[in-house]
Amino acid sequence: MRFSKTVIPKLIGRLLPEERSRAHPRLELTNFGGNEVWKARCYRPETEEDVLEILNFHKKERIRPVGALHSWSGAPVCRSIMLDMSCFDSVETFPREDKLIARLGGGTSLQRALDVLHATTGHTFPVQGAISKQSISGAISTATHGSGGPSLSHFVKRIRVAAYDPRNKRAKIYEYEGGEELRAARCALGTLGVILSVDLETVPKYLVEETLVTRGSLAEVLREYERMPLSQFAYFPYRWDFLAYQRRAHIQRPLTSGEKIFGAFFAANNFLGTDILFHVLVKGALTLGNSASRGLMHLAPKLALTGKTNIGPSHDILTMAHDLFQHEEMEVFIPERKLDQAIELLRYATSVFAGLDVEMTGPLVQALKNQELYDELQSHRGTYTQHYPFFFRYVHPEDDMLGMASGSQAYFSCSVFTYFGPDNRDRYYRFCSWLGRALHRIVDARFHWGKHVPLGHQELSRVYPEMPRFRELAQATDPNGVFRNDFVNEVLGFQ
Ligand SMILES: Cc1cc2nc3c(=O)[nH]c(=O)nc-3n(C[C@H](O)[C@H](O)[C@H](O)COP(=O)(O)OP(=O)(O)OC[C@H]3O[C@@H](n4cnc5c(N)ncnc54)[C@H](O)[C@@H]3O)c2cc1C
Repeated sequence: MRFSKTVIPKLIGRLLPEERSRAHPRLELTNFGGNEVWKARCYRPETEEDVLEILNFHKKERIRPVGALHSWSGAPVCRSIMLDMSCFDSVETFPREDKLIARLGGGTSLQRALDVLHATTGHTFPVQGAISKQSISGAISTATHGSGGPSLSHFVKRIRVAAYDPRNKRAKIYEYEGGEELRAARCALGTLGVILSVDLETVPKYLVEETLVTRGSLAEVLREYERMPLSQFAYFPYRWDFLAYQRRAHIQRPLTSGEKIFGAFFAANNFLGTDILFHVLVKGALTLGNSASRGLMHLAPKLALTGKTNIGPSHDILTMAHDLFQHEEMEVFIPERKLDQAIELLRYATSVFAGLDVEMTGPLVQALKNQELYDELQSHRGTYTQHYPFFFRYVHPEDDMLGMASGSQAYFSCSVFTYFGPDNRDRYYRFCSWLGRALHRIVDARFHWGKHVPLGHQELSRVYPEMPRFRELAQATDPNGVFRNDFVNEVLGFQ
């Protein structure tokens, strides 16, 4: 067997000294958020044959392939066998019908794929999230998305996975190119096997125009989506107004010198002002206390460079250095037509948790009482101060079974961030627990699988009608449940 013993410091947290000499060392791992720490025996397969051999050798244990460990949820956690897939980092492109397809090795980082695509073709990804450090398999396995389109999973045209043959329980390779198997494999949280390669549809490179504007009401923000379909917006707690990042695509063309100079100024301002200074202030306010955090939320939109229009390559405008400061996130998916109601609920809940006086409308009070959530909310009064803006993105319907926007309706996702350290997040989790249950029961919310998921499958199965069929498909090529872990058992209801 050719299993590499090399470890990647960025991925592998710490190699325990007493275990360095072992062939497959037990490593301590931690995710980006620092909220999950575990030990696993780690392989770094180099070929598909290696993967099959590992699967056969450990067919009675639990196996989890991982990417960049950028999920906050327990999705990548496995205390048995972990596969570091970083050797599978090939990038090939070829035309199919009228599209250019990128065939990416399962461990390829999004950034590497983009670098190769941009250097060798005139194409790019159809969707861009806030960062590109994730692996392609990790990104599609949790339906990673941006704003103004479906998630990346939707654009997967073929997946090659290693799983088990139910007849002889030996590992084999499956290729899914259509039908419900492809729809299941597009976002499968690692339960359909080890992704070896992914064919992703690309689009011609494009420019994005962006203007930041402040708006007093949700109606004003939404009105502009038709003209600015890639927009996202921040909702500031305690001010309760909006900063809209109005964005739209333009056909690729050479930028003028003026646009380039202005673009460089914008990029520097975003990096120094938003990615660094704003986050230093958020962290500083947390050490000073709740009123400092609330004060910062009042001040923050005034610091934004509003009313100026910037244009540049999609990747430059749509990404940020959001990974400079460790944090954690819950991302709630709200059906588009229920956004009004969700925003009202968010505002009242945040105010009550922060201990502020707020008058709720009669229908909301009644809805919370009907769901037996009203008294509980009052019991949380003054226990948690949200210290970061809520961020909303618009996610189009996507064709998969478990993606957060799967089905026929569009969703607005709402990101709820905390910058408390990993040992100090209990109050945040209690806030997420109440808010998550309320949004789920009242507006049928779903939750990003790679982020904090406060509910289990009993509740979640109500909003994922295809979950039972998904479990059957996973069971068919993994009869022993090798590709399951505590997290997927909890949220997807595997026995
Ligand atoms: C700073 C930051 C910014 C983010 N921004 C966004 C954003 O803009 N939009 C968004 O939607 N999400 C965002 N996320 C979430 C992130 O995209 C997802 O959690 C994604 O799953 C992480 O990818 P990863 O490569 O780190 O995968 P991991 O976290 O390592 O794994 C995620 C899942 O994928 C599975 N997996 C990984 N590789 C394989 C494989 N080869 N075969 C089978 N299964 C596999 C794992 O088993 C696990 O279930 C962000 C996260 C961070 C930390």
